[in-house]
Amino acid sequence: MLVGVPKEIKKQEARVGLTPAAAREYVERGHSVLVETNAGIGIGADDEAYITAGAQIAATAAEVFEKAEMIVKVKEPQPSEWVQLREGQLLFTYLHLAPDPAQTKGLLESGVTSIAYETVTEGVGLPLLAPMSEVAGRLSIEAAALASRNFNGGNGLLMGGVPGVAPARVLVLGGGVVGTHAARMAVGLGADVTILDRSLPRLRQLDELFTGRARNLFSTSEALEMELAQADVVIGSVLIPGANAPKLVTKDMLGLMKPRSVVVDVAIDQGGCFETSHATTHEDPTYEVDGVIHYCVANMPGCVPTTSSHALNNATLPYGLALADGGLSAIMENAGLRAGLSTHRGKLTSAPVAEALGLAC
Ligand code: NAD
Repeated sequence: MLVGVPKEIKKQEARVGLTPAAAREYVERGHSVLVETNAGIGIGADDEAYITAGAQIAATAAEVFEKAEMIVKVKEPQPSEWVQLREGQLLFTYLHLAPDPAQTKGLLESGVTSIAYETVTEGVGLPLLAPMSEVAGRLSIEAAALASRNFNGGNGLLMGGVPGVAPARVLVLGGGVVGTHAARMAVGLGADVTILDRSLPRLRQLDELFTGRARNLFSTSEALEMELAQADVVIGSVLIPGANAPKLVTKDMLGLMKPRSVVVDVAIDQGGCFETSHATTHEDPTYEVDGVIHYCVANMPGCVPTTSSHALNNATLPYGLALADGGLSAIMENAGLRAGLSTHRGKLTSAPVAEALGLAC
C-alpha cells in the first residue's frame, strides 16, 4: 500500500503522523511511504532522515493526498484537507468528531474511510489516547512548577523544597493515566503528593505503585475540601468516559485554597474539573481567578512534539501496519480498529458521534 504523510497544518501543531523509524517499519513490510517535504521538521527529522528510512519525499501536500491509499496524520483534517480526501482512501488520525459537525460533514462528503485514533480500543482501554495522557500527566508538573515561579504570579515554592524547608504539596484529582504520571513526576521532584480517586481498585493499584511515596484518598467532598486547603498545586485529571468532566472544584471552593496556588486542569479537553476553568493556549497558558493561577491548555502534548510523536507512533504502529497490510479487511477482522471506524463511503459508522450530532448511523 502507498502510505502518505502530509505535514500537519493546524496552528501550533508540530507533531508528525509517522516518524522516520515508523516509516522504515512500513517500508520493511513491503509498503511505500510518501512524506510531504519538511513534515518531520518540528521533531528534528529532516527529509534526509525519511529518505534513509526508505520513504519518498513529495513536494506538496496535494501530491500526498492524490497518490496515497492511506493517509496517516496526527490532528483532525482541516477544511483544505477534507476536499483532498476521497472514496477508497483510508484516513488514520485523531478526529474528535462529536463536537465538530463541520468536519464530520466534510469527511462524509469526501467518502473517505476514516479511523479515529481516540476510539480505537484494546479490551476496555483506549490504546491510542493513553500515550498523550502519559505526556500530559508528566508535563502537568513541569507546567505547575513554571506557574509557581514568583515572576509568573505563583507562590514562589520550589517543588521539592530543600533540606530544612518543606516541599510543595501537590494534590492530584483522578489517579488514572494522567494522574499517575503527574504523581510520578511530582514524587520524583520530592513534592508531598496526595491522589484522590473514586475507584477503590484504582486506589489499591496506586498504593502498590507508590509504596508510601504518595498518599491516596477516596474522593469525597470532605476529603477534597480538606486537601484543597493545604495544596500548593492541584492537578485536574478526572475522566468519566464519554461524559463531560465533573466540576469537582466550584468557584466558592477556590476560597479554601492558598493565595497564588496553581491549578493545572488537564481535563480541560472534556470541559475541565474546575468550575473556573476555560481552555487556554501555549502562547498564553495561564490566568488568575480569586488569587489562584489556572493553567488550562487543551493540547498540552503539542508543546513537546518530539516526545509526543515518538510516543504516539509507538502506539499507532501496529494498527497502522495492520491497515496497510489488510486494508478494509483489517477493519473487519480487528475489533479494536472497527471501534475506531468513523466514516465510510459517505456513511457515519460511529454510534456515539451520530448520537452527539443527531445524525443517522
Ligand atoms: P483515566 O480514565 O485514565 O483516569 C481518570 C480517573 O479519574 C480514573 O481513575 C477515575 O476513577 C477517576 N475519577 C472519575 N471520577 C472521579 C471523581 N469524581 N473523583 C476522583 N477521581 C475520579 O483518564 P486519563 O487518560 O488520565 O485522562 C484524564 C483527562 O485528561 C481526560 O479528560 C483526558 O481527555 C485529558 N487529557 C488532556 C490532555 C490535554 O492536553 N489537556 C491530554 C491528554 C489527556
